This record gives sequence, C-alpha cells and structure tokens, in this order.
Amino acid sequence: MADLPSPDRAAILAVLDRVSDPKSGLGLASAGLVQALTLGPGRAGFMLEVEPADADLYAPVRDAAEAALRAAPGIERASVVLTASAEPRPAPGTVRVRRGARLSSEAQAQMQPAGRPPGAQKPAHVAHVLAVASGKGGVGKSTVAVNLAVALAMTGRCVGLLDADVYGPSAPRMTGAGDEPTMNADKKLIPLEAWGLKIMSIGLLVDEAAPMIWRGPMASSALNQMLNDVAWGDEAEPLDVLVVDMPPGTGDIQLTLAQRVALSGAVVVSTPQEVALIDVRRGVSMFEKTHVPILGIVENMAYFPNPAGGEPIAIFGRGGARATAEALGAPFLGEIPIDIALRQACDDGRPLVAQAPDSEAGRAFLAMAETVGEALDRGAGLKPPPRIVIED
Ligand code: ADP
Repeated sequence: MADLPSPDRAAILAVLDRVSDPKSGLGLASAGLVQALTLGPGRAGFMLEVEPADADLYAPVRDAAEAALRAAPGIERASVVLTASAEPRPAPGTVRVRRGARLSSEAQAQMQPAGRPPGAQKPAHVAHVLAVASGKGGVGKSTVAVNLAVALAMTGRCVGLLDADVYGPSAPRMTGAGDEPTMNADKKLIPLEAWGLKIMSIGLLVDEAAPMIWRGPMASSALNQMLNDVAWGDEAEPLDVLVVDMPPGTGDIQLTLAQRVALSGAVVVSTPQEVALIDVRRGVSMFEKTHVPILGIVENMAYFPNPAGGEPIAIFGRGGARATAEALGAPFLGEIPIDIALRQACDDGRPLVAQAPDSEAGRAFLAMAETVGEALDRGAGLKPPPRIVIED
C-alpha cells in the first residue's frame, strides 16, 4: 500500500458528493458534512459530524460513504467516523424527595457539584478514568501517559490507554500499536492490545501525519466516541483504569473533557522551568474548577544524570515542579530524568518501563503507578451525581 499515491482531494470530494445527505438532499461534500478529510497512500477518511438526534439516520450514510470511498480508484482503506455526541445520561445513585417538597440545599449540592454538568459519566465497565495533562506541549505528557499506563498494568491492574491528543496523537508510535481497529458485533470499536494495555488513539482513526484543524465541538464529539463507542471492558473483564492522554493546554477541548467525563483524577506533567510551571498552575486551576482531584504533579526532564558520575546536571533547572506542587497543595509524584533510552524507547514503540524497569526512569514510573493506583483504590474522585426519586 505504501507505494500507492495519495488520492486527489478534489476527486475524493466528488466521490463523496455522489452520496446524498438525507436532510438537505445535497451531496455530502456540498452539504459541508465532510470534516477533517485525511488522505494518505491508498487511504482516505473523514469525520461525519451530525446532531445527536440524527445519529441513526446517518449510520447508513456513513456506511455508504465508506463503501463509495473504498470503490474509488487507488483506495484500499477507508474510514468514516460518525461523530454525534450523545446527551450525557445521569449516573446512578439516588436522592429521595417528597412530592411537592422543595429540594434541600444539601440535596441540590449533591445533585450537581458546581462547575460540572449533571451526568458527567464514565464509559461502561471502566472503574476509573485518569487524565494525564500538561499546560503546554512537548513536556513529555504522552511519554508519561504511556509509561504510567504500562506501569499500572505491571501492578496487576486491567488498564486502557486512550490517546485523546487530537493535536499530535502519539500512542500508536510510542506503543507500536498501529493496526486499524475493527468493530465487534455491538458496533463498538475493539481497542488494540499491546504491553498489557487496551489502546485506542485518535491517530488510529485519522491520519497521524496529516495536519488537522479541529473545531472544538468536532474534537469533543470524536473524544466522546472514543470513550463511549469503544469496547474498553465488559462484565467479565472490566477495566480498572482508563488513562487518557489529554491534548496539551487548557482550551475548550480540555475543559469539555474535564466536564463531560467523570474523571477520578488528573496527573499534571511539567518540566522544571518557570515558563512551563505557569501553565501547570493554569492546568491545575482548570481541574479544580471542574472538581477533578489532582492526583499529583510529575517533573519530567528533571535532571540529566552526570556521565562523569558527579552531581546530576539540571539542564532546565530542578525542583520547580515539586515546589509548585507544594505551593498548590498537590502531591508530588516524582522526577523523571532526561534519558536517551527513554526517548529511544518512545520512538521504537517499546515503553521503557517494560524494557528497563530498573532504570532510574523505569523506577520513577513504577513508583508513580504505585501512588496513583493507591489514590484510585482509596476512592479519590467524585461520587457520581445521584438519581432523584420522587416519593409520595
Ligand atoms: P508531549 O506529549 O508533552 O507533547 P512527548 O511525550 O511527545 O511530549 O515528548 C516529546 C519528546 O520528548 C519525545 O520525543 C519524547 O521521546 C521526548 N522525551 C519526553 N520525556 C523525555 C525524557 N525524560 N528524556 C528524554 N526524552 C524525553
């Protein structure tokens, strides 16, 4: 497939225009329904974003568009992702209220923690969703997310990794899991498996190399789909933790995710220098506003072990993240050194913590997994908002 040329954009849009939009009667491209079109050698894919109420109407359209793409010259793989963000359903738990009585302020507070919409939910059969976030890009957030997920799996937990970094998905590269996901009988995507993890990435659904411009709602409905339309676990084998590699920053996409998903907690990754720490404070404050507990702050690229055997070299300074954690009253989860083997392991798709658990970085990830795992077991996190039962 690699020697096939990338298809011509105009030709693909013309193919998609021959599939009609049931609402407007126009072709899909003319109706503006072809979003985030990505083209690569022998492959084409796009997002079909519709209103939640229209999801059923457009399911056959998605199939027709995929079939049309597959029939187009030079296309061997086609993927059309139907994104329709479902209205959040209220989570279990009950508040009993007498008919005609006013809700006590206590009951009201229980029903909706401030800053978080009712019904922030977890995917089915997932005990905890853990966000790995950073105030800015390039600080090693994905490196920490992947190695922390593997380390949590090494502690015997059933772990999933959702790479939600729409700006630069890296889980496929960092874990070597690059196959196209398939669907099960319930039309749920089956996550890929590698390093003891169940893995799903936005990079498996769209072209990793293609630059993407995401509108906020489109990105959040794609994320919603990856949370809820993926078979993360089932009754027989539920997931203990789903680690979500968040997009960097504190914009709309991150805020939506923090509000919509019942996150048990967040781990914030930073490098030691002040410019990065300013963004950490912003990140911590976003999670605080949405009532997501900060399980800790990690200092990545904290030091470079001195090859001559002396004092470690503090290339970006040292201790800034620890001091910030203390100032913010958040746990400090440890320091990850600058390690060429860690960078190499990421590029080779072989997470370092599995390859070299005794290395300094490997031990730091395992210790981090221990602390985070215990915090999750202790039940750090939000209680789901209760259901209201009216009693006569
Ligand atoms: P982010 O997700 O914050 O954008 P990444 O995890 O993709 O950052 O890391 C950016 C680059 O830095 C990658 O090439 C990664 O391998 C490398 N890297 C991250 N942490 C370290 C480290 N502690 N030592 C060496 N290289 C690192």
